[in-house]
Amino acid sequence: MKKTSLLFATHNANKVAEIKKFIHANYAIQSLADIGWSEPIPETGNTLEENAWIKANTLFTALHTDCFADDSGLEIDVLDGQPGVYSARFSGLPMDANKNMAKVLQLMDGKNERQAQFRTVMALYFQGERHSFEGIVRGSIITKKQGSGGFGYDPIFMPDGYTKTFAELAPEIKNQIGHRGKALKKMIDFLHQRCADII
Ligand code: IMP
Repeated sequence: MKKTSLLFATHNANKVAEIKKFIHANYAIQSLADIGWSEPIPETGNTLEENAWIKANTLFTALHTDCFADDSGLEIDVLDGQPGVYSARFSGLPMDANKNMAKVLQLMDGKNERQAQFRTVMALYFQGERHSFEGIVRGSIITKKQGSGGFGYDPIFMPDGYTKTFAELAPEIKNQIGHRGKALKKMIDFLHQRCADII
């Protein structure tokens, strides 16, 4: 049977490999590199939702094809959800994960309430319809960096129910309990349901 192509608005090969591991063989995932798309897509939204939809809308408007985009960020309760959509560039440009963590740790200095979450929004155009999926992992911001794995804010985020940070946990565990994995699972479940309808 003919495969359904789904274009992912990313140049990140790790994200593409991750989804290919879990999705039904009926779906062929393509990245921006696969279709030769090199123009940057502006992330000018004020929320994760806006940014995910800006990216998906850009592709759908240009190509009229099934496609999806994601946007993620760290949201700290006592900082009213900051750094949120600005997570990547919280301490300015060029992006620097160590400076971003230093800024968070400084803002959190002396605070007892340290609850936070990572959140992912996935925006999907499928058969002309728009669907969105959210994944959240709750945890807390510790007082100094621990661990060397992962990326971004992983060394200062300890998920609820664990005594290790995301930078110390095995990648498989992070994928299983993490925000991106949860949003991805919801989208894949939806697509598999649709796939079952098609087959
Ligand atoms: P993106 O939308 O996946 O590119 O994530 C935007 C930014 O949020 C990243 O550059 C990181 O600063 C932060 N972030 C998102 N997901 C994670 C994660 O799993 N661990 C640590 N930082 C993350």
